[in-house]
Amino acid sequence: MAKLLIAGGAGFIGSHTTLLLLEAGHQVVVLDNFSTSSPESLQRVAQLAGSSASARLCLVEGDIRDPGSLDQAFQTTSAPCDAVIHFAGLKAVAQSVHQPLLYWDVNVGGSQRLLAAMERHGCHTLVFSSSATVYGYPDRIPIPETAALQPINPYGHTKAAVEQMLADLASNEAGPAASGPSRWRIARLRYFNPVGAHASGRIGEDPLGPPDNLFPFVSQVAVGRRQRLKIFGADWPTPDGTGIRDYIHVMDLAEGHLAALEALWNEPPQLLTLNLGSGRGHSVLEVVQAFEAASGRPVPYDLLPRRAGDAAESVADPTEAHRRLGWRAQRDLATICSDGWHWQSLNPEGYGSGPA
Ligand code: NAD
Ligand code: UDP
Repeated sequence: MAKLLIAGGAGFIGSHTTLLLLEAGHQVVVLDNFSTSSPESLQRVAQLAGSSASARLCLVEGDIRDPGSLDQAFQTTSAPCDAVIHFAGLKAVAQSVHQPLLYWDVNVGGSQRLLAAMERHGCHTLVFSSSATVYGYPDRIPIPETAALQPINPYGHTKAAVEQMLADLASNEAGPAASGPSRWRIARLRYFNPVGAHASGRIGEDPLGPPDNLFPFVSQVAVGRRQRLKIFGADWPTPDGTGIRDYIHVMDLAEGHLAALEALWNEPPQLLTLNLGSGRGHSVLEVVQAFEAASGRPVPYDLLPRRAGDAAESVADPTEAHRRLGWRAQRDLATICSDGWHWQSLNPEGYGSGPA
């Protein structure tokens, strides 16, 4: 059993990963300020994990920018912390354009504080949530990890900046004697498009306000919470004219985090940089059709002009994650849609719906 600190563990990806970590027998301390999530997600994680596993879950409500909250999270038990998974941050591209300082403060400043706290508490193993957004407009498809990093919005810049901070730490941090190799074991995981929900339908994605992303928007239209989907561009250079993305089931993503932790613990200190995607691309219209099939509900849509800053296509080359972790995404688009619909139909208003 390891002791893990999960920053942002109440959020969409964090809650699913926390559940998997509890089921794997680990002790989990979640540090979250609930700025984009609800404490209800963790209550449901605890219920799903069962009473014996949930006894290994502990919550510290606080901000990663606050050293006192970080110290409290590291000191919840006398056991040293074996690793941190860092999900805490802001992720809305459009908001990042309007509030770049907030994004640099939370995503970059917060990460710096978290890393400093890890130093203070002698923890040098980190899994960091990066994003395919660091590739900007990709120059080839599928995208390998060696592709150029050329983010095109403040959110992407903050992810690339933290990736650089971690590379600096991995290459320069030399221990007390200032002469040996780095002690840091770091995985920078570049997620493609995380979607779907836990198969129980008890936890899932619950964005605040109108969703920016396709999948939650489609699912809210299907459940009747929103009237029509806006499809941003039907004139992309793709087979049906709509944008293509690599949608990855959130449970596949959670499993990728466990695999990354195992690799970091079992191998010498290293900086691991991996795409977590399925390697399969689906167009907006394919997603709409698959969701209609899974839900049995219509998803009416309007075709609008392209959204600023969108790329035609973004699909991972997931070969390296398979080679290094033995991990690959298992769940297809039909499963993503049926699990997503299960969550949305049981919880039409998300966690605000009350007990499901
Ligand atoms: P989310 O918004 O559901 O979860 C983020 C969690 O972090 C929330 O619980 C939020 O309350 C918490 N948080 C935010 N700022 C905090 C702070 N200052 N202190 C403490 N807690 C804070 O988002 P998610 O989809 O679960 O994403 C998790 C991570 O993965 C993020 O870093 C995001 O940038 C990254 N990512 C997400 C996607 C995606 O499409 N979902 C894609 C690529 C990368
Ligand atoms: N999209 C859309 N309508 C929406 C949201 C997204 O047509 O309401 C399209 C978007 O143009 C892109 C795809 O769906 O082609 C995925 O968009 P999302 O915002 O989910 O992910 P990202 O663009 O960040 O990869």
